[in-house]
Amino acid sequence: MAKQDYYEVLGISKSASQAEIKKAYRKKAIKYHPDKNPGDKEAEEKFKLCAEAYEVLSDENKKARYDQFGHQAFEGGGGFGGGGMNMDDIFSQFGDIFGGAFGGGFGGFGGGGRGQARVKGSNLRIRVKLTLEDIANGVEKKVKVRRKVQADGVTYKTCSGCNGSGQQVRMTRTILGNMQTATTCSVCKGAGEIIDKKPSGADAQGLIVKEETVSINIPQGVTEGVQLKVGGKGNDAPGKNSIAGDLLVLIEEIQHEKLKREGSNIHYDLYINFSEAVLGTSKEIETVTGKVKIKIDAGTQAGKILRLKGKGLPSIEHYGNGDFLIHINVWTPQELSKEQKEFFEKMLEDDNFSPNPQKSDKSFFEKVKDMFS
Ligand SMILES: [Zn+2]
Repeated sequence: MAKQDYYEVLGISKSASQAEIKKAYRKKAIKYHPDKNPGDKEAEEKFKLCAEAYEVLSDENKKARYDQFGHQAFEGGGGFGGGGMNMDDIFSQFGDIFGGAFGGGFGGFGGGGRGQARVKGSNLRIRVKLTLEDIANGVEKKVKVRRKVQADGVTYKTCSGCNGSGQQVRMTRTILGNMQTATTCSVCKGAGEIIDKKPSGADAQGLIVKEETVSINIPQGVTEGVQLKVGGKGNDAPGKNSIAGDLLVLIEEIQHEKLKREGSNIHYDLYINFSEAVLGTSKEIETVTGKVKIKIDAGTQAGKILRLKGKGLPSIEHYGNGDFLIHINVWTPQELSKEQKEFFEKMLEDDNFSPNPQKSDKSFFEKVKDMFS
């Protein structure tokens, strides 16, 4: 079955603003929340799908990718988010959506066998520079990250301000009767736990900064500006039940000296000399996946484009590889000896030297048309 469109899932139009997207998601999340639909598998699936749709559409980057490529933009791994959110991810997202009031409205996160709200540490962001070869082949990058982690020997205890729920419930008397409102616990800031013992050097939350080497698997075919996520390698949060934030990895491309990337195609300018163009030759070309020997026919015109099919970059959407396009440039000699000059002067009136584009294999415009077909 084809996956439902994210805009349909949330019941909004493609032109919906971020505020509208958020509002629509809030409504759906309330409707399908597991606490309201205990044991209802269908509601749970819908709940997850809505969260997934929101995860994508609320992020301008992901939304742009989705608008362009649809669900395929997130298939095939690489950790682009979207597919396969688990309940923890969904609930951790709720902090942004519902703020501190959420727990009160639903009687906490208690439903479905979950414990209290989990506090998630903040995300860390780094940039990783990649060469064209890295992008072509995929690469494992090891980066040093300074993360906040729970110090050795730190212990946490249940917060007495909220008995571990992370919420403080207050009764207010109104003309309609008693109203119960819940706010984030001011003692533990919603964590449900407070620090018990901490070693020296740790901050007020029991965290210390530690340098850690994290390895990142970069999939083939990534592009400048893509953001990868390494789960759990951001900062720790305090508490026994907390989960660490994520490490967000922004991809940057290092310009190649000789090769130019255009999507999944690669362009290369090859210079041959006048005699090689006339007599034909063979050349060894360095592509991103190794050397390739090519033949240049006798009588090759300047501007000819040779296409090495599949020798470009893999596309991240798994549509197969792009091509490696070799643009032939003919180098005209600039200084001639007396004999050479005499030879070329003789050739000025020679029929063999007069241009005859009709005879040439393809016109320039046909070649360009071919390139983009
Ligand atoms: Zn508390």
